[in-house]
Amino acid sequence: MEIKKKDIRALTKEQLRQFFVEQGDKAFRGNQVYEWLWQKSAHDFDAMTNISKETRQMLEDNFVINHIRVDQMQRSSDGTIKNAVRLHDGLIVESVLIPTDTRTTACVSSQVGCSLDCRFCATARLKRMRNLNPDEIYDQVVAIDNESRLYFDRPLSNIVFMGMGEPLMNYNNVLKAIDKITSPEGLGMSPKRIVVSTSGVPKIIKKMADEEVKFGLAVSLHSAIDEVRTSIMPFNATFPLKDLREALEYWYSKTKNKITYEYVVWKGINDTQEAVDALVKFCKFAPSKVNLIEYNPIDDGEFQQASNKAVEMYQNTLERNGITVTVRRSRGKDIDAACGQLANKQ
Ligand code: SF4
Repeated sequence: MEIKKKDIRALTKEQLRQFFVEQGDKAFRGNQVYEWLWQKSAHDFDAMTNISKETRQMLEDNFVINHIRVDQMQRSSDGTIKNAVRLHDGLIVESVLIPTDTRTTACVSSQVGCSLDCRFCATARLKRMRNLNPDEIYDQVVAIDNESRLYFDRPLSNIVFMGMGEPLMNYNNVLKAIDKITSPEGLGMSPKRIVVSTSGVPKIIKKMADEEVKFGLAVSLHSAIDEVRTSIMPFNATFPLKDLREALEYWYSKTKNKITYEYVVWKGINDTQEAVDALVKFCKFAPSKVNLIEYNPIDDGEFQQASNKAVEMYQNTLERNGITVTVRRSRGKDIDAACGQLANKQ
């Protein structure tokens, strides 16, 4: 019977050091291997050139490195890159590199499919298969950092957890991945350059506040009226706006970090003055900013981008009320890499 080898990156540094001591080697060897696994992102044990051949063989006999593989890379006419990433069990997720003049942002996935069911989102149509492991999230970032260096001659500058999946439904693994991404033993990126975007899971937002996380928080709000929000994001029936608001108030009281709201204006759904007024009211309890995001229709046409006039109404009303607002044009539409379009279509 074949023995299933353990994924070596599931071990902490301390466990790796302990493993080498148990093998009669020095604990320090664990540090060296750990550096290869994370900082140098080694795909196989043979790459670990400062480790003896015998030790590499011993590692090979005991462990695997479940590294992701970029199966397919598509480049948009606007420079956006979409990676179809194959996981060790054959499942696929997508991640996106978004270049601008001044920065390169990675949009990474946290689940295969999604646990939630937002009606405007292509990912929601893929049922949730499983959560991603911390190393699978980390690897997506490394792959995009490499592409950024290769194609844009600069390292990755920002990360958003806005790809497939609801990051707060895989909170522990997302947190472990961010720990590695920000650690000097990993990529050494500043947590200030990372934003976790959620549809709003009140209990976890409070937990994040209690843990005093250093990264930013964005909430996909799309409506500040319960009835409307539930009709487009059915889980809002379980986590209504008053619970979300209470959690966000708590978040702000603990972190003093501005809250970003992601908001799409759809024709016939939330393009009314009543909807804007509700948003203004919702934004008032803590310093916040609103990103109005251009919508990318998915196949059935049920959801359509509202008119420019409606978007302007939002922009003017928010500004008049002292709320910072940005209108975001979509990127990578021609390769289905824009917000809400990730659906493993290739
Ligand atoms: S919008 Fe985000 S949370 Fe909602 S179904 Fe899509 S991936 Fe999941």
